[in-house]
Amino acid sequence: MRTDVVVENPYTGELLATIPGVNSSQIEEMVARAEDVFRRVGRNMTPYERYEILFSVADKIRTLREQLAKLITEESGKPIKDSFIEVDRARQTFLFSAEEARNIRGESIPCDVTEVRTDKTVMTRRVPLGVVAAITPFNFPLNLAAHKVGPAIAAGNAVILKPSSLAPLTALRLHELFAEAGCPEGLFQVAIGRGPVGEALALHKKVRLVSFTGSVSTGQRLAAAIGVKRLLLELGGNDPLLIMPDADLEEAAKTAVDHGMGSSGQRCTAVKRVLVHKDVEEPFTALVVSLAETLRVGDPGKPDTDLGPLITVEAAIEVERRIHQALEDGARLLIGGKRKGSFVDPTVLTEVNPESELVQQETFGPVLPIMSFTDIEEAIQICNSTDFGLQAGVFTNNIALVKRLFNEIDVGALIVNGGPGFRIEHLPFGGTKMSGIGREGVKYAIEEMTETKSLVF
Ligand code: NAD
Repeated sequence: MRTDVVVENPYTGELLATIPGVNSSQIEEMVARAEDVFRRVGRNMTPYERYEILFSVADKIRTLREQLAKLITEESGKPIKDSFIEVDRARQTFLFSAEEARNIRGESIPCDVTEVRTDKTVMTRRVPLGVVAAITPFNFPLNLAAHKVGPAIAAGNAVILKPSSLAPLTALRLHELFAEAGCPEGLFQVAIGRGPVGEALALHKKVRLVSFTGSVSTGQRLAAAIGVKRLLLELGGNDPLLIMPDADLEEAAKTAVDHGMGSSGQRCTAVKRVLVHKDVEEPFTALVVSLAETLRVGDPGKPDTDLGPLITVEAAIEVERRIHQALEDGARLLIGGKRKGSFVDPTVLTEVNPESELVQQETFGPVLPIMSFTDIEEAIQICNSTDFGLQAGVFTNNIALVKRLFNEIDVGALIVNGGPGFRIEHLPFGGTKMSGIGREGVKYAIEEMTETKSLVF
């Protein structure tokens, strides 16, 4: 199975590293080591020891902020200002993980509550599962790893991280930071490789939980094969942003552009569909276009760059194809629409057909498709018309409408007067329908990564 992983800078094309991918016997060894370290060391560590490691990792991330941000930008093409945000968020993820490590509780349950007289009591404890496999995508190489490794270690598990083969270098650096922070050897390991390595790891019978973040197609494939083990899926999104007539249009347009075009639209929670009320369509669209025109596209290493390249030329070609298809389906191009290599120009389309592939599927590029509506029923129907259900945003101050949307839109979170990209690391995060199963957010991930064990005495 062994295949070398070649890591290139998506902007310059420069070769960053060639890393030997792991083969099947190495996966066997890694899982055996993880299981052994978990049994001998991991589950016997005190919460305070786990807290100290995680806190120390957070501290190292603070010290190495610049170095880590540069690495993210080099391997993923993410604009450096966004990479700094990712590093700061990852630090918070480890801080929350450290705190939660000291906060894992069970309960005491009396048993003399039926006609059966007994003086027994039950004490429950949340116990770690054992070996956790964490599989991550290319677009947040540090913070998505943090959202799996932090809670796994906080809970007392051993974890093997399989980062994206397109951007694995940050994960390797994170592994070094754990070693420097005193993490016992083997408790956190990194398996480098492409899809088959992830699959072999996930399906290994000694792996007790698979925490996967990535595309729907890979998630579906894993779900079909996984058998009896826990599976946490954080998959794609197709997040809508609704603009009502009472919206603060400037704020709404700014949010649409920030959340739709940021990281070149390569975020699961990017605004991927805009639904604007007919009454404000014209001024809102004009604001969006004027903001999109000011975006600086280019070298992701420069501090003022807003948009870098997409992760690969193939990814950019696919986005371009969908834009052309949407135009054939009746959409009107307001700006952008062009591709050069792996760059796609910031693109705004209006009169988009809700059935177009561009808006039915997740389009991972800097494209804002705008659709208008007059009737809120129709808007809700469009929101729910895709297979996805990650997050949604609405601009309105109408509380009755907010309550109705909260009730009727199928998503993991609805953000009021903000965009769907809103996330803070301690909050529950995850989607419904094809967007996933389970919740991340440190405390919630720890719940998924532990189980209740009872002592009857
Ligand atoms: P991807 O599915 O191609 O790859 C994700 C990871 O899975 C990579 O590490 C890859 O090597 C691995 N993989 C591929 N085939 C596998 C298999 N058969 N078995 C096990 N692992 C396998 O996704 P991507 O293109 O790297 O990332 C983009 C996708 O991730 C988008 O759909 C995006 O919405 C989603 N995403 C979701 C979230 C979320 O929290 N919901 C966050 C970020 C990204």
